Amino acid sequence: MKRAIYPGSFDPCTLGHLDIIKRAANMVDELVVGVLINKAKTPLFSPEYRVSMLKEVTKDIPNVKVESFEGLLADFARQKDANIIVRGLRIVTDFEFELQVAQTNRMLNSDLETIFLTTSLEYSYLSSTTVRETAAFGGDISKFVPPELVDTINEKVAAKFKEDKNE
Ligand code: ADP
Repeated sequence: MKRAIYPGSFDPCTLGHLDIIKRAANMVDELVVGVLINKAKTPLFSPEYRVSMLKEVTKDIPNVKVESFEGLLADFARQKDANIIVRGLRIVTDFEFELQVAQTNRMLNSDLETIFLTTSLEYSYLSSTTVRETAAFGGDISKFVPPELVDTINEKVAAKFKEDKNE
């Protein structure tokens, strides 16, 4: 079975992520979307919530699974019996970082191949940061995220904004 992992923070999941998920799922038997639990970062959404958002938006794609993971991606891939990593490339500056990560992963797990899907043009500007910042200032995020996530993201961002003001 050809199994791939698409790892990321997905804080929150955007239409750019969903586009990569759909295209990657067409290329393999099973795609595991891996939500990274990174203790060094303070994400807006908890790992459980990020997993549930991704499950919601991929529920109609039968060969996609969503799981969270901690630690090295190379170990998670081994654990999942996957030898393909999928990453998306937007702008040229993504490349430098991604190349380094891909080569490191290959050193740690020689069975691993990283494949890069170039962003669809309409999402080339889009990142989770863009979504969080637009929502924080009351902008319309409906062109950035799947429709079923618009309200939940806006509510979470508003609550966080309020929390920060009261600190
Ligand atoms: P990370 O924090 O690991 O960069 P992200 O959640 O920001 O995780 O992104 C996960 C993956 O999705 C990365 O490979 C990133 O390049 C890709 N990605 C993010 N946004 C887009 C987009 N708009 N189009 C294509 N790929 C994207």
